[in-house]
Amino acid sequence: ISPLKSSHFSSAVVARPMIPIGLRKPSLRVLVTGGSGFVGSHLVDRLIDRGDSVIVIDNFYTGRKGNAVHHIGNPRYELIRHDVVEPILVEVDQIYHLACPASPVHYKRNPIKTIMTNVIGTLNMLGLAKRTGARFLLTSTSEVYGDALEYPQKENYWGNANPIGVRGCYEEGKRVAETLAMDYHRSAGVQVRIARIFNTYGPRMSIDDGRVISNFVAQALRREPLTIYGDGNQTRSFQYVSDLIAGLIKLMDGENVGPFNLGNPGEFTMLDLVEVIKETIDPSATVVFKPKTADDPHRRKPDITKAKQLLNWEPKVPLREGLSIMAKDFRRRIQNE
Ligand code: NAD
Ligand code: UDP
Ligand code: UDP
Repeated sequence: ISPLKSSHFSSAVVARPMIPIGLRKPSLRVLVTGGSGFVGSHLVDRLIDRGDSVIVIDNFYTGRKGNAVHHIGNPRYELIRHDVVEPILVEVDQIYHLACPASPVHYKRNPIKTIMTNVIGTLNMLGLAKRTGARFLLTSTSEVYGDALEYPQKENYWGNANPIGVRGCYEEGKRVAETLAMDYHRSAGVQVRIARIFNTYGPRMSIDDGRVISNFVAQALRREPLTIYGDGNQTRSFQYVSDLIAGLIKLMDGENVGPFNLGNPGEFTMLDLVEVIKETIDPSATVVFKPKTADDPHRRKPDITKAKQLLNWEPKVPLREGLSIMAKDFRRRIQNE
């Protein structure tokens, strides 16, 4: 076990504060689908850290066993290799449903599988929630807004997604997943929570994930040109992963169904992002322009008023700070390649 991993393990298992037994909250049994992926593995760390028992279901389509190796041997952690498209029986109190590839490169690679995962996979997890009485949280996405015509995007905007485009498997898949969640809520009384997550980055992202932040950080560290798709004037708002995890847990444990935008309102063009990469990683980084991808949203920025008011949540980590932490993790992993 590397020093990083052993420190994770000790913070998760040993260094918990001593709380008298009578004052402890009952330990929850929590299912995290997609718990070996980027966001899921950080969520699992936090849940284990607070004393929950966690079951992870993952088919390793994009997830990595290395993301959770520090929990192996912990009796409160269980990993099941399983595809959510198939039914499963487990007994739990809460379900965080994350299973789904998140990067356009991955979700476009097998679009029909992406739809199956979003629709049949979500149906199965809602069926599980209905049978067990578990609370169910869906990690939806800013992509339900499509190439948004409103700016910044509020939760009551219905979106501008292209049903027949190459992003449809993800955008429309997540829109159906939201509809399924609301229909199980209305017709079967399942307690649901819906998060619409905006672009998130941090340690443990796959180096070959294909998203702009992971590409730029890896390219800068390898001294390769940063690839800009299109003219670089499209915008995104980048959220550090610890902020997202805090928001997801507040949403799950609170009383509001949502949907809630969870994202950092700081907005950057891809050209701005190049400058931040130069400041934080390599001032001599160069750029190469590549063709724009189909149906690429032009402007994306969350309005997070609702989450601020009802969840008392807002992101704390600025992009420069988060990128430096991520770069340390990528540097270590690239050196070990
Ligand atoms: P990721 O690709 O790192 O993780 C997804 C995980 O789900 C992987 O471990 C993968 O193996 C697993 N998975 C995929 N299909 C599965 C299936 N059919 N059965 C079981 N497991 C399956 O992605 P991430 O960034 O961690 O995203 C997690 C969730 O958050 C996704 O639902 C994604 O749509 C949502 N989200 C993420 C972002 C972001 O910027 N990271 C933005 C919006 C929404
Ligand atoms: N399901 C599951 N685990 C469970 C309960 C249900 O995987 O513990 C699946 C089930 O196989 C079904 C889906 O969830 O395909 C929807 O279940 P629901 O009970 O809503 O529908 P029904 O089985 O009545 O069609
Ligand atoms: N992008 C880019 N260079 C890359 C990867 C992506 O310029 O190496 C662009 C992409 O075309 C999009 C933006 O960066 O306009 C964000 O892409 P990403 O895949 O990270 O996430 P998206 O928000 O599109 O899901």
